[in-house]
Amino acid sequence: DAEVALVGRSNVGKSTLMRELTGHTFDTGQRPGVTRSPNHYDWTSEDFMITDLPGFGFMEGVPEDVREQTKTDIVRYIEDNADKILTAVLVVDGKAAVDIIDRHSGPDEVPYDVEMFHFLRDVDVPVVVAVNKMDKVDDRDERLNELCDRLGLYPPWKQWQNTIAPISAKRGSIEPMTDAVRHHLHEAERDDL
Ligand code: GDP
Repeated sequence: DAEVALVGRSNVGKSTLMRELTGHTFDTGQRPGVTRSPNHYDWTSEDFMITDLPGFGFMEGVPEDVREQTKTDIVRYIEDNADKILTAVLVVDGKAAVDIIDRHSGPDEVPYDVEMFHFLRDVDVPVVVAVNKMDKVDDRDERLNELCDRLGLYPPWKQWQNTIAPISAKRGSIEPMTDAVRHHLHEAERDDL
């Protein structure tokens, strides 16, 4: 079956978004350090499966090696299933993402979100960046343009509406994301003809 994979750092609102998409209840604010395996669910309104991959990145109390292992597992899952995964949704926190990216950019450091974005493109999985918590963002266009810039997408962000999807999972306003995902699913169908 067609599969949409959800990835993102911890605390970006992945569980909230999953609840919105599937109607299941998920543990928000999950206990850190618990390594989870990919979980599969039906996307209620759609005809495909949605795979929730573990949150990654810094969590208080989680040792470095567990974090690294989580990341390795995510990358391996995506590599192994790249031909089934029609679209990946990379969830980021719209309020914090640019600052986190800038804080972790350096001569020999690539921030997780940027790394994941390029990795997904390298394995030919179309990516939708679900920029969550937009209800907390005042300077919306500026933030989204900055994020584009950090991801190597030429601003303005409005040129990238199949890739950059500003949402607020908590408020149930996720249509830019579902629209972008549908766009990629239709492209994939067309390529199969
Ligand atoms: P996860 O660790 O990525 O699964 O994140 P959660 O879904 O547990 O959410 C982390 C925190 O962000 C919780 O306090 C949520 O209520 C909050 N959150 C999630 N989505 C939104 C949103 O769209 N707007 C705001 N303001 N907060 C959100």
